[in-house]
Amino acid sequence: MSKEPKKMPKPKGQQKKPAAKAAPRSLKDEAYDHILEGVRSGKFLPGTMITEGQLSTKYGLSKAPIRTALTRLVQDGWLEPVSRRGHRVKPLTIADARDLFMTRKLVEPFTARMAAGRIDPATQELLEAACDPDHENWQGMDPEPAFFAANKEFHVGIAKASGSIRLADIVGFLHDEAERVLRYAAQQHGSAEPNLYDDWAHGHDEILDALMTGDGKTAERLARTGLEKSERIVIEVLREKAEQLPI
Ligand SMILES: [Zn+2]
Repeated sequence: MSKEPKKMPKPKGQQKKPAAKAAPRSLKDEAYDHILEGVRSGKFLPGTMITEGQLSTKYGLSKAPIRTALTRLVQDGWLEPVSRRGHRVKPLTIADARDLFMTRKLVEPFTARMAAGRIDPATQELLEAACDPDHENWQGMDPEPAFFAANKEFHVGIAKASGSIRLADIVGFLHDEAERVLRYAAQQHGSAEPNLYDDWAHGHDEILDALMTGDGKTAERLARTGLEKSERIVIEVLREKAEQLPI
């Protein structure tokens, strides 16, 4: 059984994505971002081994920043060290995916109920931007990461509006984990089926309406049914692919 990521994320002061081009990124950060994107996107399949040498060739970086990035990715729960062989991408099991959805179903509908009627204008603007694929916040990003960034922004925004910064942190942390699971499922989903993120708003408009009108019950119900739907798709895909996953 895989271990849970060990660290809760630190509350992020600046949530701005690529728009804010401030300080130049260090090579360590660059290595970290590359490898994390590989893990999240499913390019590095769950349960597979990755090595310093392979990563340094792939990204054209020396081994030192790669090594530092790998250590951080272990601390953050995305990789597991394997003595003298390298690092293994955190395995993805049906039990783990169920656990992730169970936690999300516990937290997110609750925050939606609590946030109803408490959406200030700034939050409304943020939530509306998250529902709009053409919004400037997502321009210049690849469609997949943009979708997940917007989705996280939406749900974390609701959790913040619920009044609990801790719940907002937990929702953000759960979304980081869910992104890998959902991207893997979307990638493995048969071509006859639409991608999970083809439907950008996937019911967010209705949730926002309920929040704005102060209808906590409806917001809670919609948040729950949305999660139940993606859980069904994910579990179905994981069942189909179970024997191909190197777990
Ligand atoms: Zn959503």
